[in-house]
Order: sequence, then C-alpha cells, then structure tokens
Amino acid sequence: MMAVPFRRTSKTRKRKRRTHYKLAVPGMVKCPECGELKIAHRVCKECGSYKGQDVLNK
Ligand SMILES: [Zn+2]
Repeated sequence: MMAVPFRRTSKTRKRKRRTHYKLAVPGMVKCPECGELKIAHRVCKECGSYKGQDVLNK
C-alpha cells in the first residue's frame, strides 16, 4: 500500500513553498575587464579574460 496525502496542498501553501526556489543560478559577477556579467571563477566569455589576463587569445 502506498501512503496518500491526508489533505490536498493548497495553492497558497504550494506557492509559499516555491518562494524558496531561486530565480537564477547565483555566482554571477561583473567581469573586471569588460563589465559583462560572467560566472564566477570562470573565464569571461565576452572578452576571454581570467584573473586580469587574456587567456583565450594568446
Ligand atoms: Zn570580460
């Protein structure tokens, strides 16, 4: 036998639970080189820089 919820989850309760869902993935920072939003600890895909160096176009 499978357990069945005793009460149906109300719209409000469901919505309140989902307020904890994040809108976007955190960890986005502004690139110090070009000012674009980039993922932290990753090479900037706009200008190809990381830690102040151009690592893509050597
Ligand atoms: Zn950049």
